[in-house]
Amino acid sequence: MTKQLEDLFAFLRFPSISTDSNHAGDVRACANWLIEKLNSMGLNTELHETPKHPIVIARNEHHAGKKTCLIYGHYDVQPVDPVELWDSPPFEPEIRDGRIWGRGSTDNKGQMMAHVLGVEEMLKEEGELPVNLIFLFEGEEEIGSPNLVPFLEKHKEALKCDVIAVSDTGMVAEGVPTMGYGLRGITCCEITVKGPKGDLHSGVYGGCVANPATAVAKLVASLHDDNGKIAIEGFYDDVRPLEVWEREMWAKVPGMTEADILNITGSPAIFGEPDYSSAERLWARPTAEVNGIGGGYQGEGSKTVLPAEAMAKFSFRLVPDQDPQDIAAKVKTHLEKHAPAGVTVEVHAGHDGKPYICDPHSENGKAGQVALEQAFGKAPVLIREGGSIPIIQDMKEILGVESLMLGLALPNCQIHAPNENFYVENFEGGIRLNKALLKELAK
Ligand SMILES: [Zn+2]
Repeated sequence: MTKQLEDLFAFLRFPSISTDSNHAGDVRACANWLIEKLNSMGLNTELHETPKHPIVIARNEHHAGKKTCLIYGHYDVQPVDPVELWDSPPFEPEIRDGRIWGRGSTDNKGQMMAHVLGVEEMLKEEGELPVNLIFLFEGEEEIGSPNLVPFLEKHKEALKCDVIAVSDTGMVAEGVPTMGYGLRGITCCEITVKGPKGDLHSGVYGGCVANPATAVAKLVASLHDDNGKIAIEGFYDDVRPLEVWEREMWAKVPGMTEADILNITGSPAIFGEPDYSSAERLWARPTAEVNGIGGGYQGEGSKTVLPAEAMAKFSFRLVPDQDPQDIAAKVKTHLEKHAPAGVTVEVHAGHDGKPYICDPHSENGKAGQVALEQAFGKAPVLIREGGSIPIIQDMKEILGVESLMLGLALPNCQIHAPNENFYVENFEGGIRLNKALLKELAK
């Protein structure tokens, strides 16, 4: 095994599960290991305490006149349950079929380590880096980065940079380098619909008072028209239209045909907003999704009850230039307005995050594209992502710079799930990518 793979394996062996307080010591041990590794490369490191898990910073010696590049990553991981579904223990990494298997192998330790080892290789080969480098690694990404924004605000001056690079996103298919330039935002809410003061006999009272479960079903149904377009007033007002080049580029992105989507999802048919391709629906159009719905008897057999209350949970994925708070207000108005007679509707706001977009054809964007091409041997596809990484927009607002999303995660890498894996090829490509990126950015 190469020294680089050994380093990655050592990093992967820490069960740095940020959400589980039983693993707080492991998260810290992982941060300490990282500090040691970065020190051994000759970088200056800082370990910053937060109310929960530490933030690790490392820099080379900065020189005036050089561009400053911040590379963000996270060393915490998701829990491993259900552990019996893993083919090999999640924290005992191994290589099978050209892939590294283990929790964190892709998200995000493998991708992050590729940047670290790229820097190490470059320092060995050339003695110094062509840019001023700042590594920013947090241990709380998987729990929503609660302490990163305050940290960024507090250390805004020290973190001043010209560009940010992040490898925590996807590659559309094996061997297809991918640069992300947009992310969807999100806003969530929950409704509680109340009727009678307690559950009622559906024979004794059914038909003379409203049923909250029926009311929830009506409210859920009111969110879309029959074609899948969202029926909330003003919902699309701020949606930025797709550019012609985006539609042309996305039409050619592999893995996004209707057949591909049916194959991945197992759904019997494609469904979505008319006049948009699957890629466009996922990357440039907003959604209204029911994440949970409930009320009344859910046990075995039948129980003739008229439930006193019912609930549903919603999330809305947002695109530029929608504002989460504006959409949350429009959703609330819609739900209250469409509340059926005979019930009360309470809307409880949940978490939110803004959408993100940058120009992939900017100078830095071009450097990212060239670096991907050099590392993987072909021109990258430019995509946006359907998911949300609110911290990218936060960094844009606080530090005033854009992030290049140079993702190495493949569709079958099983992040957050059992049997997470990372292609050795992508790990090695990621190391080449880091070196090419720093060189290109310096030009
Ligand atoms: Zn993750």
